[in-house]
Amino acid sequence: MDISIDVGGTKIACALIEENQILKSKKVDSIIHQNLESLPNYLFDLIKDWLPKSSSVNVACTGQVSQDSVSFLSAGKKLPLKPRLEELTNLPVTIINDAAAAAWAEYELNQNLRKQDFIYITVSTGVGAGIVCNGNLITCQDGFCAHLGHTTVPVKSTNVYPCHCGRNNCVEAIASGTAIAKHASLVLGEIIDCKTAFDYSSQLRAVNEVINQAADAVSELIFNMKATLGNQHVVLGGSVGNSELFFEMVNERIKRASSLYQVTLIKPVTGANADMLGVHYYAQKLKGVELCKS
Ligand code: ADP
Ligand code: ZN
Repeated sequence: MDISIDVGGTKIACALIEENQILKSKKVDSIIHQNLESLPNYLFDLIKDWLPKSSSVNVACTGQVSQDSVSFLSAGKKLPLKPRLEELTNLPVTIINDAAAAAWAEYELNQNLRKQDFIYITVSTGVGAGIVCNGNLITCQDGFCAHLGHTTVPVKSTNVYPCHCGRNNCVEAIASGTAIAKHASLVLGEIIDCKTAFDYSSQLRAVNEVINQAADAVSELIFNMKATLGNQHVVLGGSVGNSELFFEMVNERIKRASSLYQVTLIKPVTGANADMLGVHYYAQKLKGVELCKS
């Protein structure tokens, strides 16, 4: 048996997995913004009952994830999560970014993506991504790769959108749920969240423009990636990306683009446990285990 953990900004989930099936799972509030230093012990307490029957711990974590440490741009903090977890659990730990894990889950579980290069974009609280190329995940030493939310795109207005990474007009600063909520609140003069902005968009032109600008940004990102990777498929996930309205807005823009930029936009096939399953499958691949999927 193996343990998977999904460390998000809002929730932390963990699961005990046997033969690619989740036997048990738990979900608790995340502490990464309040008490990052305690995260290794917090995770250890969560999984300690499962450790005697487990042979590995596999972690999908939000942020910039390297083998030495994880760091969170928005919090400006760093933590040696993998080494600390190895000390505490006495088990091998595999750690990758959460969007990369979700991308890998799609690769393993969506038959249409087998032998395909593709990108997975999640438009949620932030904008995350994973890139699968030549049957492998793109990873790098310092963990800052495939962070497609921090690529910049043109904007039609004269506005400048500063991003917490230090650049202007990043996709994340325009299209994330946080950005949409912020920009819609500004044009409305009232604080609303992203989902409410979507609910208002058919009646309020200014809010609709904010969402259109977000869809433009994600489409431009997709075109840039097509020119970079030559990928035929894009998986668009996250609560914003997966919403009917946003998905269709991006799809329309792709259909209007020239033939060079045509890609097939698809929704994720994996559900709420995508990150935990993705890192589980990825750790098995690193071990060279032939997977047997049901
Ligand atoms: P997480 O970032 O924790 O992975 P989600 O993918 O659910 O979580 O993204 C949360 C963001 O999505 C919030 O900004 C929320 O307001 C927004 N959101 C949730 N549901 C919808 C929806 N149906 N339509 C548009 N935005 C949504
Ligand atoms: Zn940025």
